[in-house]
Amino acid sequence: MTRLRQGSGGQALLEITGLTAFYGDFQALFGIDFRVEAGETVAIIGSNGAGKTTFLRSITGMIANDRDSIRWDGAPIGDLPANRIVAQGIAMVPEGRRLFPSLTVEENLRIGAYARSGEWTVERVIDLFPFIAERRRAPATALSGGQQQMVAIGRALMSNPRLLLCDEISLGLAPTIIKSIYDALPRICEGGTTLLIVEQDIRQAMQMSDRVYCLQEGRVTLEGRPADLTHDQIREAYFGM
Ligand code: ATP
Repeated sequence: MTRLRQGSGGQALLEITGLTAFYGDFQALFGIDFRVEAGETVAIIGSNGAGKTTFLRSITGMIANDRDSIRWDGAPIGDLPANRIVAQGIAMVPEGRRLFPSLTVEENLRIGAYARSGEWTVERVIDLFPFIAERRRAPATALSGGQQQMVAIGRALMSNPRLLLCDEISLGLAPTIIKSIYDALPRICEGGTTLLIVEQDIRQAMQMSDRVYCLQEGRVTLEGRPADLTHDQIREAYFGM
């Protein structure tokens, strides 16, 4: 999926340096260095508790960070709150989808649009996930898990992100549904959106990404292009064996 578009002077779209994160006294991330170029699809792999969700929550302003630890298009954003991060063009599809149960499918989508206007509209989301046309007035809770995941992706797209973070979008879904969701991702990239995907399924992560990072116990243990990484390197980085 690579369509790298280097910023001026080779500047990364997102550059993270020495990122730490704490829950009270518990340290979950230990000095993460990470970068994403515009147009890349980057996957993060790692076992349960490795710190993947904490990392995404740090990027999206849900966990406070040092101002300079996260740079977006060259500007420090580490201390911005979540609402200002979305307005900058960074959106997240959270683990577990988190649709608003009392709202319809279309209302859920439109909530995503408050932060930033742009090319993504309800009609364009329907073009990506056609089943929504028939279900747009249904309560979000009436949908299957896979359909809810598609609406959660659509809701994030409605904020017209330049960078879309996806947290385990295949979790708990049947293989055919996972395939239709992953088949939609290249079309999202074609619209100019850069993707950062957290995925526990190593094979899936390798197939769909330009570059992979592996986290283990809050540290980056491996980074590289899938074709350059061996099974042994991945096993050691993932499981510490
Ligand atoms: P999973 O695949 O299970 O979602 P993960 O790689 O996303 O795992 P995180 O959820 O980021 O990992 O968790 C990293 C560490 O931080 C774990 O040890 C976890 O127990 C801890 N942790 C996560 N959320 C909290 C919280 N709200 N309070 C305290 N500790 C937390």
